Amino acid sequence: MNILVINAGSSSLKYQLLNPETEEVLAKGLCERIGIDGKFTYKAPGKEKIDAVDVAMPTHAEAIKAVLDALVDPKNGVIGSMDEIDAVGHRVVHGGEKFAKSVLLTDEVMATVEECNPLAPLHNPANIIGIKACQQLMPNTPMVGVFDTAFHQTMPPVAYIYALPYEYYSEDKVRRYGFHGTSHKYVAGRAAAMLGKPLEELKLISCHLGNGSSITAINGGKSVDTTMGFTPLAGVPMGTRSGDLDAGILEYLMTKHNMDIKEMLNVLNKKSGVLGISGVSSDFRDLDEAAEKGNERAALAVEAFEYSVRKYIGAYAAAMGGVDAIIFTAGVGENSKGTRANVVKGLEYMGIKIDAEKNNFRGEERDISAADATVRTLVIPTNEELMIAMDTAALVRG
Ligand code: AMP
Repeated sequence: MNILVINAGSSSLKYQLLNPETEEVLAKGLCERIGIDGKFTYKAPGKEKIDAVDVAMPTHAEAIKAVLDALVDPKNGVIGSMDEIDAVGHRVVHGGEKFAKSVLLTDEVMATVEECNPLAPLHNPANIIGIKACQQLMPNTPMVGVFDTAFHQTMPPVAYIYALPYEYYSEDKVRRYGFHGTSHKYVAGRAAAMLGKPLEELKLISCHLGNGSSITAINGGKSVDTTMGFTPLAGVPMGTRSGDLDAGILEYLMTKHNMDIKEMLNVLNKKSGVLGISGVSSDFRDLDEAAEKGNERAALAVEAFEYSVRKYIGAYAAAMGGVDAIIFTAGVGENSKGTRANVVKGLEYMGIKIDAEKNNFRGEERDISAADATVRTLVIPTNEELMIAMDTAALVRG
């Protein structure tokens, strides 16, 4: 079965054609500058690479057409015709309270997906444009929506309710939703496989640490709490996002610096996090390098990030009444042995202890626990595209 996975943003679109059974990636790439001019990138094993070449993309429809043309191209393509694409899985950022799992995108379902737009006004409309462009070009191919928020819909009310007047939840739907759900779900499944135990019997804390970061408590395969909130701005400090802060700061800074809410949110989303603290970069590799050369603010930024992750590990162990395994995933979690070691430092009393030698690698699926640890620590590269393809295939098979 071949599944085309599409992740459409407002001016870009990532794609991957893969077989969820064999996990083989047939081709993948990126369309950029949609609506501006258009750049097309395509990679397939054993084929010529197409690297950011000019292809006119006034809308997402031309971008998807470029993807389909490349996939069936007699020279560089990987399939004979579009009929060999069994279904398309679309990443959708926000499913609100309407979608607790992935869903076949019928006309009726699309109307409900569009009702979630106000919850993610920057992302969902772009996802929907991608779906509609695909439907137009592939009217007979089943389409599936896979939501970033769906995995977290199992959170109990105590975890998702904000301590605001209740009407803001009941009328306005302001609550914790959580994001990165596809990633947390994927690594939880892999962790169960690595530990050789049923997911239903495990208490896991999944640390998705990348440019955006979130930590999730997963009890018996279900998300029971997560650090991101109504938006992805909450939780631990991130590359450029502040993470949790005292809402009172907003009024103080907006008055002092004569900022409106848009400017304030731009600071919180784009100029804060480890970039804000360090003044150096949002990229953890740059920060490590600067810290090594003695830059104290870069060191403080990384330490504040690691400290925050450690605090949430403690909090989520308390929330679940224990923990069987800690999972590190995403760019920083998969690649930075230093961050992994620093995050769990001092957690030996909980039974969390890693082996420095086993931790000395990057980017692979491994158990890095010390021999005497009672809680396992796992590194698991995330694979959101594969998870989307697996969900899509399962729905199409019925
Ligand atoms: P992601 O958002 O999952 O793509 O993760 C991106 C982040 O991973 C960036 O901040 C990178 O600096 C970070 N990253 C990638 N490789 C490494 C590495 N070897 N050491 C530290 N951070 C890394």
